[in-house]
Amino acid sequence: MIRNVKCAIFDLDGTLFLGKDRIEGASEALHMMREKGIKILFLTNAGTRSREGVAEKLRSRGFEANADEVYCGSYIVAKYIAMHLPGKKVYVVGEPGMVEELNAAGIETSDDAGIVVGCLDRQINYEKLGKAHMLIRHGAEFIASNKDHTFPTEHGSMPGAGAIVAAIEFSTRRSALVVGKPNPYAFTLMKEEKGLKASETLMVGDRLDTDIAFAKNCGIKSVLVLTGTSKKEEIKEKGLNPELILETVAGLPKELGIMPKEKPTA
Ligand SMILES: [Mg+2]
Repeated sequence: MIRNVKCAIFDLDGTLFLGKDRIEGASEALHMMREKGIKILFLTNAGTRSREGVAEKLRSRGFEANADEVYCGSYIVAKYIAMHLPGKKVYVVGEPGMVEELNAAGIETSDDAGIVVGCLDRQINYEKLGKAHMLIRHGAEFIASNKDHTFPTEHGSMPGAGAIVAAIEFSTRRSALVVGKPNPYAFTLMKEEKGLKASETLMVGDRLDTDIAFAKNCGIKSVLVLTGTSKKEEIKEKGLNPELILETVAGLPKELGIMPKEKPTA
């Protein structure tokens, strides 16, 4: 049992859904928590969509979600650049959602840029890799939403943003700065924007090296769900111990001391 949780941060892929398939009981569990006054936030390293785009995806899968509850890779990268590297233009190896969030934060995107952002790009080609390579070789900063090796889909895993970032790192021999999980920067943003306290916040996710490592880096509690990437056996090997391990997120309300309402008997 985990007590005194006022905010729960949920990873998406592998935690609330698997590609297009919803995890059974997930939306009901989140609804139950909302009804008890627990703040719900969504945190995904995925940087291909804007906050509104991610909220729409959540709603299409049956979850209640507002754009301002979503902390996605594109938003985190945009806020990081606006805060730490103001005034620089950005070249994006990524998808339209990333450009949208950068522009919303007042950041200009250009082929002649002082920052290269690397992200999942399902239209990746040699010209884009070459452009990023040349800019970085000429001194541009290199920032990535994440270096996830893969992401889970309903058909199994597919190459993640890390596969694209690694190609640029390999040719430039420069390491990208990752601002998504496990970097605790998103929690700094959340604390600022939502007034969260570490002692009352819980992270729920399916990956030890991103979700659970993020929780440890932020000093918040964590729950590992076994519906996605990480398996129970890896916990010891990676030395990242969540407070709780659940088969699926559907079991979370009970562990927080929230009981489902008795269904009235007819
Ligand atoms: Mg996940």
